Amino acid sequence: MSTAVVIGAGASGLASAFYIQKYLPKFSKVIVLEGSKQVGGWVSSTKHSDGCIFEHGPRSLRPVGEQGRNTLHLVEELGLSHDVLPVFRSDASAKNRYLYVKKKLCPLPNSLAGLFKTLPPFSKSLIRTLAMEPFHRRGKTDESVHSFVRRRLGREMADIAIDAMVRGIFAGDCRKLSVQACFPPLYKMERDYGSLFAGALFGSKGPKDDAESSHLTRRAKNEAWASWSLANGMQSLTDSLAESVGGSKGGEVRLESPCVRLSPASDGSGKMTVQTESDTINADLVVSAIYSKDLASVLPESMEDLREDLSALPSVNVVVVNLEYKDNVLPVKGFGHLLPSSENKQILGIVYDSCTFPEHNRKNCPDSTRLTVMMGGAWYNHLLTREGVLPDGNELVWMATDAAAKQLGIKSHPIRWQVTLQKECIPQYQLGHVAWVQGLEEKIQQSKLPLHLVGASYRGPAVNDCINNARKMVASLAQIS
Ligand SMILES: Cc1cc2nc3c(=O)[nH]c(=O)nc-3n(C[C@H](O)[C@H](O)[C@H](O)COP(=O)(O)OP(=O)(O)OC[C@H]3O[C@@H](n4cnc5c(N)ncnc54)[C@H](O)[C@@H]3O)c2cc1C
Repeated sequence: MSTAVVIGAGASGLASAFYIQKYLPKFSKVIVLEGSKQVGGWVSSTKHSDGCIFEHGPRSLRPVGEQGRNTLHLVEELGLSHDVLPVFRSDASAKNRYLYVKKKLCPLPNSLAGLFKTLPPFSKSLIRTLAMEPFHRRGKTDESVHSFVRRRLGREMADIAIDAMVRGIFAGDCRKLSVQACFPPLYKMERDYGSLFAGALFGSKGPKDDAESSHLTRRAKNEAWASWSLANGMQSLTDSLAESVGGSKGGEVRLESPCVRLSPASDGSGKMTVQTESDTINADLVVSAIYSKDLASVLPESMEDLREDLSALPSVNVVVVNLEYKDNVLPVKGFGHLLPSSENKQILGIVYDSCTFPEHNRKNCPDSTRLTVMMGGAWYNHLLTREGVLPDGNELVWMATDAAAKQLGIKSHPIRWQVTLQKECIPQYQLGHVAWVQGLEEKIQQSKLPLHLVGASYRGPAVNDCINNARKMVASLAQIS
């Protein structure tokens, strides 16, 4: 009888357990250890009794690419197809995205005609910027996202558009993050084809796409979905995964059971010993699906070298403020807007949730508005008081409503709000990140321990990446076992 232990019940850990049960039947016991009171990790939704849903982490996923199709296939396997809320590419919330620059909301080009216009805040049309792109020199090694874009598309694009976009995706500073790790397709296009233009034209030499196709993936393609969520919020994805894992023979999801120590078994069996506060498990396979620093903290001193490496990955804190207004108070329709760091350090952007998923509005108030104001990230220190503490919840709500008032002209008061501090929630892939991951994996391989790393710390923080990387890890084990 073989036992697999998965540490962490976020999207990565639950998906790992699900795929172990599916592809590695020799593990008759699959135990998921979760330190907190609930599963899901950063995937977290609050459903109020009147039907209003607030998302505190991811709010929509993209259906495209291997990763996107894989998650949709999983959704179908979990029996959640009827809960899927698609956003079509023709919807305003898919087409319209804004930047807030020089105290103005600036729409980004969303049509062919838009590419030819000079739209503020830019001093030339996007087509002029793109026309020069193939003639810029190739980079040599990994570099920052900002430096890559400045080299290929010019300083204005890097300072405004990319700065804001990286704040929206990684809550991070594009001057510090690695283009190779954060945007692998862009890095590969330049490396393989010399320019983004040629890369887009001739296709990228990506690895073989092995995501299974299904009814839902075909629907997404045929109906041109831009993104999707679930009727009961994103958390229903991780809740369903946990139910599936725990409900399968030999599967168990233990809440409030943090792994406190993980070490090589002392009997020389090649297994690992996983300790919780109340139990010791002898594991034939261990999957770590937690932040790399958290893994470092449970390894023994004898693994100091690995501990040190795992501790090197920084992450940022994000304050998420969900707001609900009684009426439709948005001046525009769209996904939301982002702010470059030169405009405002504290506020990263505002998502217009009710525009994208009106189905998540409270039932007796279909015209209500739900917004999420994202704050902090790599600029978290700018939120702190002179004494170095985070302002209290009321102050943070005031900052969020003030941002909505100034940036969107919303004068009314919210009827409901919720503030969540997401500590160390988004790992920051700095220069050399890809080599760092390779180094870690080599060290683990050399140790011959049955330990595998998945999760947002390594190969992409997006939920689609987390789930697909879990599948790939298990598939590679299924091939060799
Ligand atoms: C505000 C915000 C917005 C986001 N928006 C998007 C989005 O729109 N789209 C998108 O794709 N992604 C988004 N993300 C990113 C995405 O949600 C995360 O990267 C992803 O959910 C990480 O999943 P994970 O399982 O790797 O890690 P986690 O979610 O961190 O899960 C790890 C789990 O391990 C547990 N744990 C920690 N230590 C231990 C221990 N010692 N023993 C046992 N358990 C332990 C934790 O409690 C946690 O439940 C967002 C993230 C945030 C914070």
